[in-house]
Amino acid sequence: MTTDQTDHPVAEDGVLARLRTLQAADLPVHGGRTLAYVYDSGLADVDRVGREAVAAFAGSNGLDPTAFPSLLAMENDLVGFAAGLLDAPDTVVGTITSGGTESVLLAVQGARDAHPDVVRPAMVLPDTAHAAFHKAAHYFGVEAVLVPVGADFRADVAATARALDGLGDRAVLVVASAPSYAHGVVDPVTELAALAAGRGLRCHVDACIGGWVLPYAARLGRDVAPWTFAVDGVTSISVDLHKYAYAPKGASLLLHRTPALRRAQYFASAAWPGYTMLNSTLQSTRSGGPLAGAWAVVESIGDAGYERLSREVLAAVDTIVAGVAAVPGLRVVVEPDSTLVALATDETLDPFTLCDEMAVRGWYVQPQMSHAGHPATVHLSVSAATRPHVPELLTALAEATAAARAAGPVVVDAGVAAFVTALDPAGISDDDFDGLLAAAGLIGESADGGLALPTRMAEVNALLDLAAPALREAVLVAFLDRLQRPTRLPGRR
Ligand SMILES: *Cc1c(COP(=O)(O)O)cnc(C)c1O
Repeated sequence: MTTDQTDHPVAEDGVLARLRTLQAADLPVHGGRTLAYVYDSGLADVDRVGREAVAAFAGSNGLDPTAFPSLLAMENDLVGFAAGLLDAPDTVVGTITSGGTESVLLAVQGARDAHPDVVRPAMVLPDTAHAAFHKAAHYFGVEAVLVPVGADFRADVAATARALDGLGDRAVLVVASAPSYAHGVVDPVTELAALAAGRGLRCHVDACIGGWVLPYAARLGRDVAPWTFAVDGVTSISVDLHKYAYAPKGASLLLHRTPALRRAQYFASAAWPGYTMLNSTLQSTRSGGPLAGAWAVVESIGDAGYERLSREVLAAVDTIVAGVAAVPGLRVVVEPDSTLVALATDETLDPFTLCDEMAVRGWYVQPQMSHAGHPATVHLSVSAATRPHVPELLTALAEATAAARAAGPVVVDAGVAAFVTALDPAGISDDDFDGLLAAAGLIGESADGGLALPTRMAEVNALLDLAAPALREAVLVAFLDRLQRPTRLPGRR
C-alpha cells in the first residue's frame, strides 16, 4: 500500500497488476513480431527513456506555451530536426499533433481555408491515399476526388491533371503519399506538386509513415524519387513521430513551407468570459507526455542512430522481399520503396487464412480488403527490431502459406452472405446486428455479457470482403458500437 499526495490510500500493486493482466490480451509492442500498429526500434534503453519522459510530462498542458515553456522548446527542437530531414527552407514552420490523422486533418482544413471564396471545395488524391483524407473530407466538407493509381500503384499524373481541370476553381489541394500505406510506394511528387503549383494550389505530401525513413534510405544510396521540400510546389508535409521515429504513441508533425501557409491552422477565441483560447491543433488541452516522449526518443537515437536503424529495417525488407519470392503461392504486390510490404496470394490460398496462420505462429500481419478490382492482400510494417527475426518470419510465412493452402478456401455461408448484403449501409440497428450475429454464429457473448471475439478471423474477414465498402463500414461501425458499452459493475444499478 502506498499513498498519494492527499494521503488517499492507493492499492498500487493491485492496480498495476490488474493493468498487466489487461495488457496481456494485447498485441506485443516489442519484439518485432507485430507488423502493423507498432514500430519497434529494438532499443530497450531508448524505450525506457521515452516512457519515463511520457510519465514525467503526462500532466503538463500544451494549451499554453507560456505556462509550459518546456513543451514549446521541445516542439521547436523536433520541428528543427524534421526540417533537416525534409530538406526544408529556412522559412519552414511546424506543429506537433497527436498523430498522422490530425496532421492530415489540419493540412486539409488549411487548404480549404486558404480559399474562403470557394463554395464547394475539393481535393484531388490518388485512390491509395490514407483514409485520414476521407475523414478530413467528412469533417471539413472538402470533396475527395479520387484518381485511380496506375499499374505501378503510384499516382497517375495525367489523370490527376484531368481531375483538376474538371474541378476548375473548386480545387484547393493536391495530395501525394510518400509512401502509400497499403502498397508502400512513393507517388511522383515532383509532377504532382508541379500540377498544384501551376494552378496556385497547395500540395500536401503525406509522409506520415515514411518521413523518418526515406531520407535515410536516400542517404544510404537507395533509389528514392524526390518528395521532400526540395521539390518545388510541395507546401506541407506530415510525418509521424510515433511510427518510424520509434516514439511512444501520440506524436506527429505537420510542417508548412512558410508561416503564411500555416496561418489558417491557428484558432483563437476571445468570445467568451474565460481565457482567450489559442490553439494550433484540433486539441486544446494537450498532454505534454507524447511530445516529451518523442523529444526524448529523437534526442536519444539521434541522426546517426536513425541512419543505423534505417539501414537495419531496409535490410530486413530486402531480405523479406527476396525470401517471399521463394515461397510458393506468395508474391509482393509491388517492389516496396520503403519499409512496408504488401503480399498477394495466388488462387490456391486465402490471404485472411494466411493472417490467422501467422497469428498462430506468433506474428501479427494485417489483412487488407480487396480494393479497386485488386484482391485482398497482407500488409507488413517492418520495424528495425524485426531484422534479427527475418529468418523466423520467412519460415513462418512458408508454414502459414502451406497451412492456408491445406485449409482450402474460406466459404462464406450463402445465407449469411445474403443476410449481410441485404443490410442497409445507411445504418444498421441493434436488431440488425443481433440478427447478423445469430446468422453468422461467429461471435459469441463473453462471460460478462460483452462480445467475445473469435480467435480466427478469416471467416469474418471473408464476409466483410464480400460487402461493398459502404456496407463494410456500416457493419464495422455497428460492431464497434456494440463493443463500446459500459462495464456493468457489480453492486451498481
Ligand atoms: C498512419 C498513417 C496516417 C494516419 O496516422 P495515425 O497516426 O494513425 O493517425 C496517415 N497517412 C499515412 C500514410 C499513414 O501511414
